[in-house]
Amino acid sequence: MTDTSETFKAKSTIKSADLEHRHKINFNIGRYNAVVPHGKSQFTDLTLARERAKNIKWRALETLDQQLEQFEMKFTRKGGKVIWAKNAKEALDHIISICKEKNCKTLVKSKSMVTEEIHLNDFLKKNNIESIETDLGEYIQQLDGEPPYHIVTPAMHKSKEDVAKLFAEKFGTDPKLTPEELTLVARHKLREKYAGAEVGITGANFIISDIGAVAITENEGNARLSCAWPKTHIVIAGIEKVIPSITDLALFWPLLSTYGTGQKITSYNTIVSGSRQTNETDGPEDMYVILLDNNRTTILANPKQRESLYCIRCGACLNACPVYKNIGGHAYGTTYSGPIGSVITPHLQGMEDFKHLSFASSLCGNCTEVCAVKINLHELLLENRSEAVNSGYVSFGEKTAWKIWKRASLSRSMMNMSNGNIKNRLVNNIFKGWKKHRGELHFSKKTFNELWRERFNG
Ligand code: SF4
Repeated sequence: MTDTSETFKAKSTIKSADLEHRHKINFNIGRYNAVVPHGKSQFTDLTLARERAKNIKWRALETLDQQLEQFEMKFTRKGGKVIWAKNAKEALDHIISICKEKNCKTLVKSKSMVTEEIHLNDFLKKNNIESIETDLGEYIQQLDGEPPYHIVTPAMHKSKEDVAKLFAEKFGTDPKLTPEELTLVARHKLREKYAGAEVGITGANFIISDIGAVAITENEGNARLSCAWPKTHIVIAGIEKVIPSITDLALFWPLLSTYGTGQKITSYNTIVSGSRQTNETDGPEDMYVILLDNNRTTILANPKQRESLYCIRCGACLNACPVYKNIGGHAYGTTYSGPIGSVITPHLQGMEDFKHLSFASSLCGNCTEVCAVKINLHELLLENRSEAVNSGYVSFGEKTAWKIWKRASLSRSMMNMSNGNIKNRLVNNIFKGWKKHRGELHFSKKTFNELWRERFNG
């Protein structure tokens, strides 16, 4: 068993028994569940909308090279610069060289899972650059020294009382502040940072190929300030974020907001297509888009797993997952948690170290049911299991146990041997590891043959 798998089990065991944690998560997911029907009501045919979105992402990924090259051509025509980064190191090297060139001491950034993936904040800190999260949830997490808990709502595991306590500790504010008052405190602190930052970093919800632009969706306006206020704007986006045309946003924007937060449309939707032009009065003087691979092409090369790249990071599968709801986002120990995280992380970070995530599933299929773009998540989890076994990442003990199990299951005489009680004792002693985190296996008291004879031979 790998260290990552051991840590996952240890953290999951603790969290799943933490009733306060469960209460907070159920409360916040309950609020999400209550508003999603409102968002869905805007679609006359929701299934068709999701299928269309899946088809568009299919087309985008099947022609990914052309889509990205078209994006680069259009974007550079407007003065933007495109940087292709094969991995996290290359992306970080480019970011630091831009920061050094711009003499950057303070940087503001909006919420972006890709920057979490490459551990940007730690890297900037080591390079003596102050990096400020400007999304309220991310800001709370940064203050608390924690990574985001959820891909859409980073501080979902915290109650308003937790946040008030955190602000009181960090800023000496009244621990009884209301959410509105806490927001004003954060707003006041962040405004100062925007004004002083030399560089702004954002992610991208979509890379729009036909017009050479990126689309950013948010509810607070902080991403818009991060792009527009500092003189330099860096976007970092996974290559799979591409959509072929600006007209596709008419479908993707409402779909993302419905499945992400239950809104019909998110409060701020921004399209950024390059640096400030000569006839424009505002916007950054320089704009860069870093297109990050970081093993996404490994997924692209895998015909079965490719559809996991259609993900628009709405977070709906996390909210629907019984495993996520019990163990929470941090137990995964990965940037991307929940069902989509369990599907893609073994490919992004290594099957041997992260295969266990695909086994930590009830395979209930609820993730597939709720996915905004109809990714067959539970089937991909099964595919991962199969790939892990075929790659030989199973212990000798497990292989032997399954061989014995198979031999016995295929042998009528072995199945008919002894009664249920003896079988229960025997099997539950052999499969002790299985029992540790699951209920015991129960054999019927009578064998199948005995039951058959009783029913049909009187
Ligand atoms: S896999 Fe589907 S449901 Fe999960 S985050 Fe991605 S788009 Fe949303």
